[in-house]
Formats: sequence, C-alpha cells, structure tokens
Amino acid sequence: MALTIDAAFAARNFEELYGYSPEGVWSAPGRANLIGEHTDYNAGLVLPFAINRRTFAAIGLRTDGTVRVASEGFHGVIEVDFGVQSTPALEGWSAYPLGVVQVLSELTGHAVEGFDIYLASDVPTGAGLSSSAAIECAVAIALNDIWDAGLSRSDIALAGQRAENTVVGAPTGFMDQFASMFGEPDSAIFLDCRSMDVRAVPLGLGDFEVLVMDTQEKHSHATGGYASRRKACDSAVDVMGVSTLRDITTDMLDEAQQKLDEETFRRVKHVVTENIRVENAVAAFGARDFEAIGELFAASHASMRDDFEISTPALDLAVESSLEAGAVAARMTGGGFGGAAIALVASAQVPEVMSAVTEAFTAAGYQPPLQFTVVPSQGARRDI
Ligand code: ADP
Ligand code: MG
Repeated sequence: MALTIDAAFAARNFEELYGYSPEGVWSAPGRANLIGEHTDYNAGLVLPFAINRRTFAAIGLRTDGTVRVASEGFHGVIEVDFGVQSTPALEGWSAYPLGVVQVLSELTGHAVEGFDIYLASDVPTGAGLSSSAAIECAVAIALNDIWDAGLSRSDIALAGQRAENTVVGAPTGFMDQFASMFGEPDSAIFLDCRSMDVRAVPLGLGDFEVLVMDTQEKHSHATGGYASRRKACDSAVDVMGVSTLRDITTDMLDEAQQKLDEETFRRVKHVVTENIRVENAVAAFGARDFEAIGELFAASHASMRDDFEISTPALDLAVESSLEAGAVAARMTGGGFGGAAIALVASAQVPEVMSAVTEAFTAAGYQPPLQFTVVPSQGARRDI
C-alpha cells in the first residue's frame, strides 16, 4: 500500500529523526496550471490551481544558529550553521528550504536562531506540478508564523520566488508560489502578474476531473531551455522598447515581426496570444463552456509546441491521445521540456482515457506516463 503523506506522518518522522516533538507542521500544495504558460515572468496572466498534493514541513526550534533539514526520499540530513555565516553556500535540494530560511531572515531582519526541519511530500518532483513552490511555501509560511513576521500571503509567495531565483539559481516566475499560497477548494487562481491582483475563480468542474499525465521526463528549471526562453523574452522587450511583453498588444504583432528575428517573434507571439487565452478561459470556466475551454487549451498547446517550442513528443502524445479517447480539453502544463500534461475528462471516462493514453505510449515505444487526477485544493496552511 502506498505511504500516506500527511502532517502526522511528517511529525512522526521528525520525532524519530531528531528525538523530540516538532513545534508544528505546516504544508503547502503543488499546483497545476490550467492556462497561461511562461506569461508570469512577462507580467502577464495565469490561471493555476493548488492541487491536493502537498509538501509538509515539521519544524522544531533550536537556539544555536544551526539549521538541520531532512526530506523523505532525499539523501542526508543537511546541516548549516547560520550562526557563523549569515549566508552559507547552499547547494542541492537543501538550497530550496535553506534558501527560504535565508531570504526570510533577510526580509524580516530576524536572526536565524536555528531549526530542525523534516519534510515529506507527495508532490512529484520535476513533473511540472511545482514541487519547488510547495517546499518553498511550506517552509516560508512556517517561518512567518514562528517568527510572527506578519508577512502577507503575497509577500510569502514572493519570498519563495526570491529564494528560488537567488539561492537555487532558477530564474522562475512567481505564479507557482501564488497558486500554492492562495489556492482554494474548487477554484482556480486568476493572477495578473503586472498588478499582482489575485482572485479565486470558482471552476464548477462538476462531473469533470483534471487528469495529470506525467511523462516522467525530468526537467530542471535551474538550467537549459527555461532560462533561454526567459532571455529571448528579455531581448524582445529591449528591441521593442517596452517595459514588459504585457505592453505588446495584438495590433503590435506586425511591428514585432518586422523588428525581431523569426524565432524571437514566435516567442513573443506565444506570450501575447497566451494572455488573451487566459482571459477567455476565465470567461469560459465561468460559463461552464467546455467546448470553448477545449479550443483554448488546444490553441495554447499548439502555441507552446510550435511557437515557444517547449513541448516534447511525449507531451504532444499525451495531449493527442487523451483528446482522442474523449477528454474535452488537454494541454501540457508547467515550464515544459518534459513534465506533465493535463486533460479535462468527464469522471466516468477517466479510466478509459487513462488506459488509452497508456496504450498510445506503449505503441509509440515510450514509457507510459504516471497518471492521476488532481482536485483544486486549499493553499498553504498550518496543520498541527
Ligand atoms: P518542479 O517544481 O516542477 O517539481 P523544479 O525543478 O522546479 O521542478 O523543482 C524540483 C526540485 O525541487 C527537486 O529536484 C528538489 O531539488 C527540490 N524539491 C522539491 N520538493 C522537494 C522535497 N520534498 N524535498 C527536497 N527537495 C525537494
Ligand atoms: Mg518548480
């Protein structure tokens, strides 16, 4: 039987490892993005939701400036002395939780008196479901409570992003952390990354479920394609003389095509058209117009595949085979270069779609994806 990862599990393992009871257990969810990809760092629009898979952080207090961190399924108990060095060199997986400790200490001016941290998560890593935001937000909301720092949920989200950008070195946006902090049951989070307005959008999924098809092709956002896409967007901003790609309206696309090289233009076209698709998707979910959602997802996936070039053959196959088997909408989700695709599927058809996708992968000679449904759930919170 699969292990149940929950707050009690994290508390038990904390006690076994460190020999005392934790001060508390906090958790934060991963997220699936319904639509709006690579728009967050371009001051654009996104529509993610927090999923019912979480990272739990059991935390105990120390007084000697030492932070110890262990994580279920990850190697070692990493120990760092914040008392000696205020900015110790952090590497590997521990850069995520320890980076948050460092950034929150900088932001709040609170000295790190020391913590023992035990993490346990059922968010798959590198699957496009943002295990990184889950771990960051779980630790950040915990420290905000423990230090009584009074940061808002937006501030905590931005602290998580800052840790990922400056300590881990992954130039990611802040969509994931906002979804993890603001998630609500049965709702998506509509976030305007320019104004930072955030609003829960009731999804009314009813008899539909969100199926995740994790290709298990691992990406890393600290290196490679993600960073190069960001660079392309930055260079387009320079050439176009705007402050962000959000300032480029559809009627400026002709001008963009003349000024930019062919590849950079396609990157820009994706971002500009994706923002419009997000707005239309909010309206379509409001109207429960699943046909319109299907069209928007299809256009979004095609744009990521052909213009932004972040899909993979396995992600394309997941989308195509799930649609063929009866999904009403499907697209890759997350940063791309591997990870997961999502599909909206009527509950009764989920088993049939799952086996059709498995079959299609086997026939194509790929390892079948890991498939499971996710439910829009509550954001970061204290559990114990
Ligand atoms: P994603 O956010 O899509 O899952 P990322 O590459 O952004 O993928 O982040 C995954 C990395 O975050 C992992 O390789 C690991 O270093 C770190 N990480 C995520 N969750 C945990 C965890 N529960 N324990 C330790 N490290 C984690
Ligand atoms: Mg991530």
